Amino acid sequence: KKETSTIRPQMEKLLPEPTFSLLERVGELADSMKMNAFIIGGVVRDLIMGIPNEDIDIVLEGNGIEFAEAFANKIGGTVKRHETFYTATVETESGIKLDFTTSRTEYYEKPAALPTVSRSNIKEDLFRRDFTMNAIAASLQPGRFGELIDHFHGLSDIHHKRLRVLHNLSFVEDPTRILRGIRFEERFGFRMDEQTEAFIRQSTGSISALSKARIITELRYLFSSASPVRVFTRLSELGVLDSFLPGAVWSTYSEAVLTHFLRHPEVQSWSVTEKEYWFFITLCLYIEDFKKPSLARMAAETRQQKKVVNDIFSLLEHYPGSYFNTPGMFHNIAHQTEDHALLFTSCVLYPIDTDVSAMIEDYRHKRKDLTNWVGGDDLKEAGISPGPSYKNYLFQLEQAILDHKIKNRRDVLQYIHTNFLS
Ligand code: ATP
Repeated sequence: KKETSTIRPQMEKLLPEPTFSLLERVGELADSMKMNAFIIGGVVRDLIMGIPNEDIDIVLEGNGIEFAEAFANKIGGTVKRHETFYTATVETESGIKLDFTTSRTEYYEKPAALPTVSRSNIKEDLFRRDFTMNAIAASLQPGRFGELIDHFHGLSDIHHKRLRVLHNLSFVEDPTRILRGIRFEERFGFRMDEQTEAFIRQSTGSISALSKARIITELRYLFSSASPVRVFTRLSELGVLDSFLPGAVWSTYSEAVLTHFLRHPEVQSWSVTEKEYWFFITLCLYIEDFKKPSLARMAAETRQQKKVVNDIFSLLEHYPGSYFNTPGMFHNIAHQTEDHALLFTSCVLYPIDTDVSAMIEDYRHKRKDLTNWVGGDDLKEAGISPGPSYKNYLFQLEQAILDHKIKNRRDVLQYIHTNFLS
């Protein structure tokens, strides 16, 4: 016996009244045009879970774009066609937007490529989707309004907080679904079922067919809603981290570095671009053996980033060693190192040497206002005639300031007299 489930009550409760009546009108027009209309995907999933969502996707068994035009005409709204996506957006005078599309099926000529699309019925349209919870539709037809079309048991999966793909080749066809899956796990507290996880493990070959640019775009999108620590942990558990980021290592060490980095107050209020943020996050997975910059360069994309990597590794080359004893000594190897490279180096060393990590932070802060302390004028005032030795003297003064041997203006002159003039 098949029970029919409906989300009509949720629609009444969670959709604003004008949107609800608009959807009723969609159903009426579809009926009169001998078409079937459904809401589908994210909005249905969210309504089932009791979450308001006004991003409404409507699928037509029939030409969705033509329908959108007829509907806009009838209600006095505007239509925007997006031919490449086979969709059209209708906007009402009061600003409600509905997206219409034709139900379709997709064929993947080869793994991880873009699909070939053709028209189909609702069942096939549901079958091309990523997870069962996103593969549920609800009818808009009068008399069946709100009735669920749930061929793949998405409703039961939602109730069990289970993330499940529709077929064994799903990740081979589109490996970015793995990242979408992790996003949904994090967002809703769902968990992939064992078989879905097994399909992921079998899809490594097609992950490497994705372009690097696509992987970066998808991962960045994922980081905007899920913690990078969770994402890397999950990718690593699923055995696909190395397929997405070749050479990357997720270990207690890289996790400690990344966690420390993300907790850094300056990172939390960071003004760097998202691109830089992404670079440092992935860099944490490439510093396992911090004597090997070649691996770390894989995280770098721009020349500037390659330089940062080189800077970090030229500091690490000296570790452990006396250069790391005091900020003044550290200045010898770090005076030209860019601030972000210093910040990152302090994070890299944090799990193995908190003292040195703190010293580097101390150095960064003090270095920022060194220029307010001393300049060539001080040397001139002390009677040293300008020349090539100035550079050397100033550097020594900076080191003395960094090491607190000079604490005020008087100390500066005193230091010059004792060290440079006697
Ligand atoms: P969100 O609330 O994050 O937007 P959503 O489920 O609406 O979630 P979209 O990216 O807007 O996500 O996608 C809309 C629908 O299209 C999904 O519910 C899903 O059914 C389908 N979909 C999106 N991306 C894929 C994909 N890569 N493979 C298969 N189906 C997909």
